[in-house]
Amino acid sequence: MTLPRKAGAEIWLQMACSFNNWLNQATGTLVVGLALTLTACGDSAPTRFGDIDQARVLTADSQPQNWLTSGRDAGKTHFSPLQQINQKTVERLGFAWAYETGTNRVLEATPIVVDGVMYASGPMGRVWALDARNGKEIWKFDPIVDGQINRKACCDQANRGVAVWKGKVYVASLDGVLYALSAETGAVQWKADTIYDKMRGYTVTGAPEIAGNVVVIGSAGDELDVRGYVTAYDLETGMQKWRFFTIPGDPAKGQDGAASDSAMEVAARSWSPHSRWDMGGGGAPWDAIHYDPATKLLFVGTGNGGPYSRLPRDPSGGDNLFLCSVLALNPDTGYLVWYHQQTPGDQWDMTATQPMIFTDLTIDGQDRPVLLHAPKNGFFYVYDRRDGTLLAADKYARANWAKSIDLRSGRPIEDAEAADYSFAPKLVAPATFGGHNWNPMAYSPATGLVYIPAIDSANLMATGDSKPAHRPGLWNPNVAVYFMDQVAGAPESLPPAMQKALPGLTRDKDALKQGGVLRAWDPIARKIVWEVPTTGWWDHAGVLATGGGLVFQGSSNGKLRIFDDRTGQLLKEIDTGSSILAAPMTYMIGGDQYVSVMAAWGGGGFGYSHPTDAFVKHGNKGRILTFKLGGGEVPKPPELPPVGPIPAPPAQFGSPAQIALGAQLYGRDCALCHSNLRGAVTPDLRRMSQATHDAFQVIVGGGALKGAGMPGWADVMTPDQIDAIHAYLISISRAAFEAEQKALKEGKTPEEKPGFFRAG
Ligand code: CA
Repeated sequence: MTLPRKAGAEIWLQMACSFNNWLNQATGTLVVGLALTLTACGDSAPTRFGDIDQARVLTADSQPQNWLTSGRDAGKTHFSPLQQINQKTVERLGFAWAYETGTNRVLEATPIVVDGVMYASGPMGRVWALDARNGKEIWKFDPIVDGQINRKACCDQANRGVAVWKGKVYVASLDGVLYALSAETGAVQWKADTIYDKMRGYTVTGAPEIAGNVVVIGSAGDELDVRGYVTAYDLETGMQKWRFFTIPGDPAKGQDGAASDSAMEVAARSWSPHSRWDMGGGGAPWDAIHYDPATKLLFVGTGNGGPYSRLPRDPSGGDNLFLCSVLALNPDTGYLVWYHQQTPGDQWDMTATQPMIFTDLTIDGQDRPVLLHAPKNGFFYVYDRRDGTLLAADKYARANWAKSIDLRSGRPIEDAEAADYSFAPKLVAPATFGGHNWNPMAYSPATGLVYIPAIDSANLMATGDSKPAHRPGLWNPNVAVYFMDQVAGAPESLPPAMQKALPGLTRDKDALKQGGVLRAWDPIARKIVWEVPTTGWWDHAGVLATGGGLVFQGSSNGKLRIFDDRTGQLLKEIDTGSSILAAPMTYMIGGDQYVSVMAAWGGGGFGYSHPTDAFVKHGNKGRILTFKLGGGEVPKPPELPPVGPIPAPPAQFGSPAQIALGAQLYGRDCALCHSNLRGAVTPDLRRMSQATHDAFQVIVGGGALKGAGMPGWADVMTPDQIDAIHAYLISISRAAFEAEQKALKEGKTPEEKPGFFRAG
């Protein structure tokens, strides 16, 4: 047996814990003076709250019992040196505890654990502080967000985490308020509204980041009408320190008076003055914002172009800086230090917002502090993070929009024939959800491998109007996107122009293939070392790697799978009964190593709206699931009763023209969340009760169910238009009802066709 690196300290801790146990038994009290040093024992309640600072983050490896940043350490490696759970012992891994969050929307955050306290966040920006030994709630925080914000959220009520620093917990709510909470009580210390233009489609879903003396938060909403920016606030007071816009604004309005002003002079040269400034432009940094204490730089990954289609956005077809770029900022001033645009003039939603990892690598004999990045566009980038020197850029997932990247210029060798849909529909790889999305990847210094929750994918894309109308604060991508399920599974349901284009686009035998895959990437040899398929393209949960030689990944079907980090061999599978998208993390208390993961289905777009196996069987109760050696079976949420037949819908009303209008409006404004009529995170609209039918106008128009997540649309749609949507839903419900009744009469199992989502 090899001893853990910190064996000495752990033995001391166990001895101290035994002494504490003895003391408790002997006296029934805890000696106060010892409480501080004994907080990691198995049976003493936490007494230190949120005690994280720069010195502690820099020594994260010498205190592996803690998980101090979103990715544990300063490099956000999502790797832990802990090795009690290892290739030999993992067989005994089982259930330790579960905490029910009381929510039923997606959970995406990686919790932070420090001194025995877990800080986790979820839908709308709720926060839970738990005793990490047993999941006992210490406090919880609900920002109380007006449900009308759901209209601006592209991708469920996602929140990707908290930052914990010097006694405070920082979190941003979906409606863009940044909160500093007491780490001990959850009480609000200060709050700041980070949204600079309420008329536009802004939300905030990312985790705040501590960078020197400031806390930095991003923005989201590129599918609506936003102009991306990050803002820095004073840690103690919440005073705004600086703001950096990621793309220029309308030149007619002059400079912003922001930290980005001089950078925007450079960026503006890559936009036509006649660009669609009214439609925002995009570039929102909705996830990766990482501070690097080694270089003292703040790295920001920016979002896609808005609207998607390039020429209507900017008739000059310029690069549109800084869309889909990595930006290195000075966190004290907000000034730009270096940048690299990964996808010039993006028109495919190929964001650079995916989580980044910092480490040191020896490349061609030179020691380099590197930034590792697998953005949506399918290329794995290695930068020297001091100055942005591009050291490698190779395909880690299926990608046809570019053949390769020229390392000297940093520019892609684009394949317009394959992917520029400006003038004809194209089958573009990766699909809009990317070769890799927000789900964290992990880097193990032991194996030198990066474990990427990757997706091989494509989708059919076509441009919208050449002069699209701007719909303030609403969905404005101006593109038609058809996902592979429809392209490969039901091409007859595509519009005629798409059906016509398809044969020419599918000559490549792999053109219609796609799937999720856990991929081990060697960033020095620049190649895949091993890979394991997931259950499907929608299945690409975040990853944890550990010193125990293990790689952990959850699954939409509820399985937590654990692999050998060198071979990809499956070593253990634990059935949890809850769909998992987030990344597992690990920590140690009282001599026990724990692995914990947030579990609930949801998130963005078509795939997430599909019911998964675990979802259909057990529903979507949010849970924080925690495991340790010697634990038992995971208690599964109770099985849901089988879904009964579709109830008889009300009589059809409305003319065929009205129903067609309803279908069109539904595709425009409803399908984002209700993309599948069968429902998943959102309800099955073919099974609306009579009471819901009766209240249709007050629900859809008046926002009567706003608190449940259904915003009102009376300011966007007339009552007649809402009636048209209702008529369309009744027609869909009647067709499904009649087909089901017919099948039942014939003694057959009713066959359900999935609904399809058309963006734009
Ligand atoms: Ca996007």
